[in-house]
Amino acid sequence: MELFSIKDLDLTEKKVFIRCDFNIPMDEYGNIADDRRIRAAISTIRYCLDQDCAVILASHLGRPEGKCDLKYSMKPIQKRLHTLLKQEIILASDVIGEDALKKAHDLNPHEVLLLENLRYESGEIKNDKEFAKKLASMAEIYINDAFGVSHRAHASVEGITHYFDKEHQAAGFLLQKEIKFFGTLMKKPSRPFVAIVGGSKVSGKLEALMNLLPRVDKMLIGGGMAFTFLKKLGYNIGASLVEDELLEEAGRIMDEAKKLGVKFYLPVDVIIAERFDAEAVSKAVTVQEIPDGWMGLDIGPATVRLYREVLNNVQTVLWNGPMGVYEMERFARGSSKLAHYVADSYATTVVGGGDTADLIQRLGLDDEMTFISTGGGASLELIEGKTLPGVKPLMKTKEGL
Ligand code: AMP
Repeated sequence: MELFSIKDLDLTEKKVFIRCDFNIPMDEYGNIADDRRIRAAISTIRYCLDQDCAVILASHLGRPEGKCDLKYSMKPIQKRLHTLLKQEIILASDVIGEDALKKAHDLNPHEVLLLENLRYESGEIKNDKEFAKKLASMAEIYINDAFGVSHRAHASVEGITHYFDKEHQAAGFLLQKEIKFFGTLMKKPSRPFVAIVGGSKVSGKLEALMNLLPRVDKMLIGGGMAFTFLKKLGYNIGASLVEDELLEEAGRIMDEAKKLGVKFYLPVDVIIAERFDAEAVSKAVTVQEIPDGWMGLDIGPATVRLYREVLNNVQTVLWNGPMGVYEMERFARGSSKLAHYVADSYATTVVGGGDTADLIQRLGLDDEMTFISTGGGASLELIEGKTLPGVKPLMKTKEGL
């Protein structure tokens, strides 16, 4: 899929509105826990500044539910942008109020204005036309570089695009990169291509699993979702997470894999615990021997070895969803061991955003992966085969990925 690129536009001395995704995690002290998304937006911002643009940046942060809440102010983002760009960042005290409109109007080339949290305004999520129009009125050019929210038809992502023609709107470098990576992955991956799919439930990834099956050579399943498959195969899964209403669907996926010749792998052993608790008594058992009342919270050592073996000869790896409850140290080993192996491989390794990106980040392996998506939900929708509402207006042709 080719997008209208920021490179196609004449930006010289223009006022540019860039929708970024600065929705970053904060720790319990209110500090930025991971600034990857801010750093990922820098090349587009710098490119605009190099073209002598006046730059207006907008993003949401958290869920302030349509009203001003200082807990979600963009102030920490302003500070981090200042550090990264090494220049003053002007912060508006509102989004489309008097202050923002005046500051946007008065903005000079090379200056950067950051609007307050877009979700202080209820019109953002509602994709309100008037709100989108006001945002659009601030600039001559619109750039979408917010991959992480491009699966949402929100005002700053979708509504705003109706107020710019094709010569005045485009995708930033980050958005282009994300679309390119997932496009190559889904259309012409180097083979063998393996998808590692984990996370809590089958329901959350059902469409992704179905859409991936005809494209991959192998599929490795982990996390809570594995137990629905194992139950369907007749194993006793104790008190593990299961979606009984999806047992038939799980069977259909396994049949489809067989029909397509996809090598479909499930855990052969798991780490079980008496309860869902970081301190609970735990042990490794084969999937044949899960006792009643115990729950599987991670893949076991034999599964790690098996999955390593499977990964030995692959050329492309797509990983979406942890292999266990990685937030608790005791149940993070399976994900961690597999992550190190994937990181060490010579394959092209693509990590879907969200929890998997968080896991890789915690392990300090981010530099070892080929690409880590900045959007969990958005990348999942791409894998499901959907066209993202924020990307659609920027597509050169109407075909999907
Ligand atoms: P998802 O949002 O579906 O990708 O799921 C991510 C979540 O799945 C993480 O918070 C993990 O703690 C959780 N998870 C992974 N494995 C298991 C498991 N065996 N049982 C319960 N939750 C799990």
